[in-house]
Amino acid sequence: MLMPVEDAQKIILQQIRPLGRLVSKPLQEAADHLLGEDARADGDIPPFTNTAMDGFAVRTEDVASASPENPVTLRIVGVIRAGHPGSMPIKPGECYKIMTGAPVPDSADAVVPVEWTQPGTLQDRVDILRAVNPGASLRWRGEDMQVGQVVVARGTTITAPVLGMLATIGYAEVPVAAPPKVAILSTGDELREPGVPLTPGTIRNSNTYALYAAIQQAGGEPVIYPSAPDDPDAIRKLFTQAASECDLLVSSGGVSVGDFDFVKPVIESLGHLTLWRVNLKPGKPLAFGDVLGKPIIGLPGNPVSALVTFELFVRPVIRTLLGDTRWERPVLSLPLFTAFNAVEDRRQYVRCRLMVQEGQLMLWPHDNQGSAVQTSWQDVDALMIVPENTGPYRAGDWLEALVMGVDHIWRP
Ligand code: AMP
Ligand code: MG
Repeated sequence: MLMPVEDAQKIILQQIRPLGRLVSKPLQEAADHLLGEDARADGDIPPFTNTAMDGFAVRTEDVASASPENPVTLRIVGVIRAGHPGSMPIKPGECYKIMTGAPVPDSADAVVPVEWTQPGTLQDRVDILRAVNPGASLRWRGEDMQVGQVVVARGTTITAPVLGMLATIGYAEVPVAAPPKVAILSTGDELREPGVPLTPGTIRNSNTYALYAAIQQAGGEPVIYPSAPDDPDAIRKLFTQAASECDLLVSSGGVSVGDFDFVKPVIESLGHLTLWRVNLKPGKPLAFGDVLGKPIIGLPGNPVSALVTFELFVRPVIRTLLGDTRWERPVLSLPLFTAFNAVEDRRQYVRCRLMVQEGQLMLWPHDNQGSAVQTSWQDVDALMIVPENTGPYRAGDWLEALVMGVDHIWRP
């Protein structure tokens, strides 16, 4: 019996420890990285009580009786602008004109928005048209963050709002988890680089480039090695070099049962082969082990198999090396938009677009699910999980799917 995907993931991740390496990034370059330390507020935020509205800082007791019919007239004793220090306390019957973000004088306990006032008959007077409660339109010192409080925990992915918070608490440089160096090791006599004319029997090396982007998107630092011919010595030499330079090795091709598939014996000769072959389609011949102390994942060569197994096995390893404990994607139960007929004796990971009908997310599988059919990976947002020996499924049947993104929706 082939090993279930979950067991293979577990066995692989048991061998992986976070690297714990930090690098310092200028704030504006820190997005998408993982924060390397607990970030604490360097002061109270807001640092002083300030106004949320343009208006008038008042003592609420002075304006308790104010209404449009019977306005309360106050004397304006000054104007407080954002970015300038606070002002003197106000006395009964007085107020300050005040702008959003400006510090509120201690003796004022609310701000009346300018929309609830009208100019007084004298130039330095304002008519207040409504009573306000104490605290109205005030943003209290420390109501968002208190000095010393952990505002963003170590290991958090730095998103746009997190970046804003780090700026707020004074970070100019941010310690982040250093991206693991991931070697890309494509193998195959037939591979030619884009830009080089093809000769009979050769094809373009696409995996190196697809993996490059996938590694980057997973938070790794991809390192391209020249693709190796189907020759054990050449592969051994390349793996040895990559193991001395990188944190993780990812090969593609040469890992199946062909006469010229040498990745497995090379792994065995340089280290250990921990597992080989997993119950999934596409991607069955996946291999995992270590060479010279570095983890290696041998992906099958078919471009779609390589990306499916990348998603299931390599991405979790890269996230774990970074120290991310929340790498798991959501698995959602969703209805099929179109029928899916293929029944297989292995668990299928079916490339699907996501679409929405009457507010319901639906799975829309690509027609040709061949493991070499690269167009079946285009626009893929979800991998539908079809248990072995089940199906065919009709439109409207519900299946689980690993959802990789719902930020765009496809229409038929
Ligand atoms: P293999 O796993 O080496 O038996 O390769 C399986 C299939 O994937 C073969 O048709 C290979 O030509 C193809 N293949 C292997 N490596 C690559 C690559 N880097 N780019 C595109 N196709 C590849
Ligand atoms: Mg090959």
